Amino acid sequence: MAMRVNEVASPKTLAEAVAFLRRHPQALPCGGCTRLLPDPAFAQKNLSLLSLGWIKELQAINRTDRYIDLGSCVSLNGVLALPNIPALDPLKKALLTIGSASIRNRATLGGNICGRDSFGSAFPALSAMEATVELRSAAGTQWLSIHDLVGQDNLPAIPAGSFLDRVRVPLRDWEHNCIVRKGPGLLPGDTNITLTIVANIEKDAISEIHIVLTGRQLVRNRALEMRLTGKKLPLPAKESENCHHDFLESAVEAGLPAGQAIAVADSVRAFLVDLSGGAS
Ligand SMILES: Cc1cc2nc3c(=O)[nH]c(=O)nc-3n(C[C@H](O)[C@H](O)[C@H](O)COP(=O)(O)OP(=O)(O)OC[C@H]3O[C@@H](n4cnc5c(N)ncnc54)[C@H](O)[C@@H]3O)c2cc1C
Repeated sequence: MAMRVNEVASPKTLAEAVAFLRRHPQALPCGGCTRLLPDPAFAQKNLSLLSLGWIKELQAINRTDRYIDLGSCVSLNGVLALPNIPALDPLKKALLTIGSASIRNRATLGGNICGRDSFGSAFPALSAMEATVELRSAAGTQWLSIHDLVGQDNLPAIPAGSFLDRVRVPLRDWEHNCIVRKGPGLLPGDTNITLTIVANIEKDAISEIHIVLTGRQLVRNRALEMRLTGKKLPLPAKESENCHHDFLESAVEAGLPAGQAIAVADSVRAFLVDLSGGAS
């Protein structure tokens, strides 16, 4: 199915990109187009595209001792190639589950974050790592929590008339982390889901834990995370069971098929059991 494209702009500067968006507020910003092209949802639409790949600032990577800024057009392989930054482990693990090496060469981080009808596979890692994002529009730039890109019913909500400039990831190590992919198909969606869990342990207690599941929707049970924070390890079996139950409920509420909801709740429980083994 061929995509119908009305107009394409490939600006070299941020100012030109913003000017194009002002004239065409419905234009879709794009990076590598590896998501747009195979997605049947776009095939039937008349689209104007704003290709961001030529803008130097959006390729930049800048690091301080507290965070790293990744330009929205940095490729997934560009992130994977960054050496010696243990804090990026959960993100890198998530990126390695996406496509093939050649897809990851073309695919951008911004394109993964800004999926319109489902969350890209890197989104839950960035949510768990508490990333922030800088959006640019005709009105200027603004920093938002990555969760501000999650709208009603926990569906993606990328503001029209703007594009993602860069992603800021706190340089904070997550000693315990896991990425679990489930479901058929290439593109994330209703049944193709990614679970990310990151946690730290201090003095034999869980000092922090974030559990994020995405597919078409984002599922995060903050009450459960708060309940686990501060809990002494090893966790009693009853506590792991309660967590399994609570996460299962959240996943079912989000509309996940029962089999998948059970499978992700099983993964949450397995992570907690492992974590208990990690305390000494
Ligand atoms: C074989 C194959 C396997 C794949 N496997 C996976 C997978 O496992 N997990 C997964 O998540 N994806 C997968 N994808 C989809 C895709 O490769 C990735 O999601 C990729 O990261 C998208 O990046 P891109 O630059 O190509 O995005 P694009 O296709 O250019 O854009 C994707 C979406 O993001 C928007 N967008 C892009 N850049 C910006 C920006 N800077 N600001 C605002 N909006 C923007 C676009 O409007 C569009 O809606 C796969 C694709 C293929 C072909």
